[in-house]
Amino acid sequence: MSLIWSEVLATLEKSISRPNFSTWLKPTTFIGEQSGLVKIGVANPYAKDWIEKNCLDEIKKNLQGHFPNLESVALVVVAKEAKKPLDDLPLLHENSVNEEPVSSPGVIAETEEPVNREFNPIYTFDSFIVGNNNRLAFAACQAVAEKPGQTYNPLFIYGGVGLGKTHLMQAIGNGVRGRWPKKNIVYTSCEAFTTDFVTAIQEKRINEFKNKYRKADVLLIDDIQFLANKEGTQEEFFHTFNILHQANRQIVLTSDRVPKEMTELEDRLISRLGWGLIADIQTPNFETRAAILQEKAKEKGLDIPEEVINYIATTVTSNVRELEGSLIKLATMAALESAPITKDYAVKTLKDILRSGAPNISSRKVVQIVAEYFSIEPSDILGSRRVKELVYPRHVVMYFLRETLNQSYPQIGEMLGGKDHTTVIYGVNKIITKKKNDPAVESDIRNIQEKLIG
Ligand code: ADP
Ligand code: MG
Repeated sequence: MSLIWSEVLATLEKSISRPNFSTWLKPTTFIGEQSGLVKIGVANPYAKDWIEKNCLDEIKKNLQGHFPNLESVALVVVAKEAKKPLDDLPLLHENSVNEEPVSSPGVIAETEEPVNREFNPIYTFDSFIVGNNNRLAFAACQAVAEKPGQTYNPLFIYGGVGLGKTHLMQAIGNGVRGRWPKKNIVYTSCEAFTTDFVTAIQEKRINEFKNKYRKADVLLIDDIQFLANKEGTQEEFFHTFNILHQANRQIVLTSDRVPKEMTELEDRLISRLGWGLIADIQTPNFETRAAILQEKAKEKGLDIPEEVINYIATTVTSNVRELEGSLIKLATMAALESAPITKDYAVKTLKDILRSGAPNISSRKVVQIVAEYFSIEPSDILGSRRVKELVYPRHVVMYFLRETLNQSYPQIGEMLGGKDHTTVIYGVNKIITKKKNDPAVESDIRNIQEKLIG
């Protein structure tokens, strides 16, 4: 059976870009066929989404060659492998770095693969544009993903907000996970690490906490600058660091500044942070900004004329997140107003949006599209019935009006039937937080964004 699926994949591979193929399709598995229904295992909800949108029909067509009675294809998110108890994890002194990497599977195994939900599959090395501003950081991250614990340890990446630190860190996670499915990768933000530590103390589970971090093969901690002024957590991190480093376990840290500028940290910790490699990410230059925009437009299936790309790349210079945000805003407005994306349109629209927010006519379309997505009526969203089925879509509308169309909180409140601006702030923040922590919400937002773009 897996042979059939390999054949189907081989056919699909020809018509799908390489990064998309390796991110979404390669990790799929054939589960089985029964009375016209074929089940395919996918690693996570993101993959399910992407495949359903982009190539389910083609998959069906290909499978029909093998199963003439085929009626439908179901994509099933395969449950994560049950976590092993800590005692089963390799002991620290065992050199798990020598574990053989899995070769990229030519024939997809029929067994369920361990599922990766911890890293966003979009954040890979393939989707990262390399320029002079980030070349060293990129190369170092790739080296670490190929030989964890053996090259730069710790690897310390620093750079301003929105320049790709989290993207690269997750690319390491995705890379290591792809080669060594069994390696114990612990990925966390500094804030989550702190909360985890404080809770562990309160609930007297400190040994569990220590086991979790001190048994990592690869420890990835994002935004380490937040360790400032947290003496207890710093102390704990210091010990974790020493134990892992001595055992050649890979440590990767990101921060918005270099270690020696993190003056609120203890000196002994600062010195350790510089033991390996410190690599910076700077703001991209014009050419790199344009290349990033091209890549993002391609990822989102947008056809944007070169002069518009160049215009955005000239206007938005602060960071990559803003760059990407402007592209999405522009594409969304163009779709809502059914306008072609010309340079004149870009000039006018980006100025308008950045200054005063989008007009209400577009807001109504947003309400309509969100309502359609959740199979409810626009009047449900504009009304004030406080049931869960309506409150969430309402918050989603607030989120898009604020984040994509730059409207003011009072403007949004008024649009949504005279709600107070604090209600709107609450709703928008709720979605921002949930989007980070809940893949289902992340996927809703992404799907709706795509619908808005048209
Ligand atoms: P940071 O963690 O440094 O604040 P992120 O990693 O969250 O920044 O990046 C912000 C956004 O910009 C993400 O969507 C990321 O994919 C994108 N991005 C940043 N740098 C690049 C790059 N060189 N190529 C492609 N996308 C990038
Ligand atoms: Mg980040």
